[in-house]
Amino acid sequence: MKGLKLATAVVACGLFFVSPVLASGVEHSSSVEDPGMYAELLALLEREIGAQLTRHLQEEGRLRQVTVSVAVDPQKRRMVVDFGPGYLPGDEQNYGELFLIPLAADLRHYSDQAGLEILDVEFLFQGKPIEAHFPEDHPLPRTAKSRSAHTRALVSSSHGYIALHPSRAWEFQRPAPLGLQEDVLSPTYGDELQDLLEQRSGLVVHRARSRSKDPHPESGYPWEQMSSRYHLKALFPERADIWNELPNSPSSDREVKEDIRARPNYANHLGVDVMLSLHTNGNPSPGVRGAEVYHHRTKPEDKALGDSILCGMREVIHAQPGYESFPIRAESVAEGHGENRIGTMPSVIVETAYHSNPEDVAALQDPVFRSAAMKGVEKGYRLWATGKSCGQFALQPISDIEVPLQTSRDVNVSFLGNPQYPLGIEVAVADCRPPGVCTPWKGRFEDPDAPVKFEVSCSSTRPGTVRWKVLMRDADGVAAAPVEFNQSCVRA
Ligand SMILES: [Zn+2]
Repeated sequence: MKGLKLATAVVACGLFFVSPVLASGVEHSSSVEDPGMYAELLALLEREIGAQLTRHLQEEGRLRQVTVSVAVDPQKRRMVVDFGPGYLPGDEQNYGELFLIPLAADLRHYSDQAGLEILDVEFLFQGKPIEAHFPEDHPLPRTAKSRSAHTRALVSSSHGYIALHPSRAWEFQRPAPLGLQEDVLSPTYGDELQDLLEQRSGLVVHRARSRSKDPHPESGYPWEQMSSRYHLKALFPERADIWNELPNSPSSDREVKEDIRARPNYANHLGVDVMLSLHTNGNPSPGVRGAEVYHHRTKPEDKALGDSILCGMREVIHAQPGYESFPIRAESVAEGHGENRIGTMPSVIVETAYHSNPEDVAALQDPVFRSAAMKGVEKGYRLWATGKSCGQFALQPISDIEVPLQTSRDVNVSFLGNPQYPLGIEVAVADCRPPGVCTPWKGRFEDPDAPVKFEVSCSSTRPGTVRWKVLMRDADGVAAAPVEFNQSCVRA
């Protein structure tokens, strides 16, 4: 609901203030030298944010008017929202993430619609970031563990039933506007990712939620549908510091906030090397879609992991028929999720697709998409952990070759990128002179350490020429663009 009102406001604004910007050139960098260009948009956003905050504070039982100022730096694709006195969400409120993160998503979305591309939305509180107000709660510098020494991961599939306070009515945490329930779906993505991390990365994988179908005694729902908080309570009844951090909070959603903390608390307790949180996203505008990754703004070193995961997802998802143009964000976005903040290890949130967009909902229910998305996440993690950059799978050109009659030669195939073995190779006939005497070949390469090569021969006693087309496809369906070369059979 919150987003709808903002949508109406900004669309109205867009009619009057966006057109001149678009008319002066679509490149955002060159067209927005004048910050006054956005004055009206910013004033509108300030009013809307102020109204949303007033409603949010009312829901928390507080009547308060808070001043809001908004500034943008289009060059840096950055928006800064500064809240005046009266709003400073602390530890008990999870630093406001349940209000601020959806708000930041709205601001990005509506800025995009207004022709102003925003990546980072930074919130200040009387001119200072939240970390400056609560420095003791924000993470310490990382102990430098070599990434290649990684052995263990926590895969945290989002959400599940929580009890409201004080009624103890049980509810899923996320809305399901198109009938797809993130709370139930994401563990199936976790299963897929766990298998891949075990098989391909060689990690021991821990899970934040139970996968048992037995009933949870208090709610009667299956354990696999319960939030991590209750699973961890059952595993560690004495460790209320993991799963019951807010026992005195008056908020009706206090167990939601505890659940957000419980998952990274568990990661810290386990001492895992990486925490990967799996979500689906939601937006009041059904047109918003695609894959996104988030890291915490106080842990900028995690951006490289997020970027690598997006790159892996792009490669594998786009290789699947029907998903060639599935939207995938270019970069990991800095945000303020407690899930990424609390863990002392590299931590990112993968929002695989939007459960509020019809095309994304269809993809999320497709096992082909699920498998490809999670293969991409594992690959992106693995390349980052082993210090490799995520580059496109591409064959190097193959030189033309002359082969004396009744002999044979090896042709080596070299390539760029990080294809998943085994590799399938197809040497097809593009042209054959004289016609009908050329025999195509297909092969498979299992060993990543062995050279990829094939033999070409001239068994005839008469000269001829063949143009070969070499195609290569990896185990995940990622294909390199074909390359062609000529083989001439010549008299010695
Ligand atoms: Zn989620």
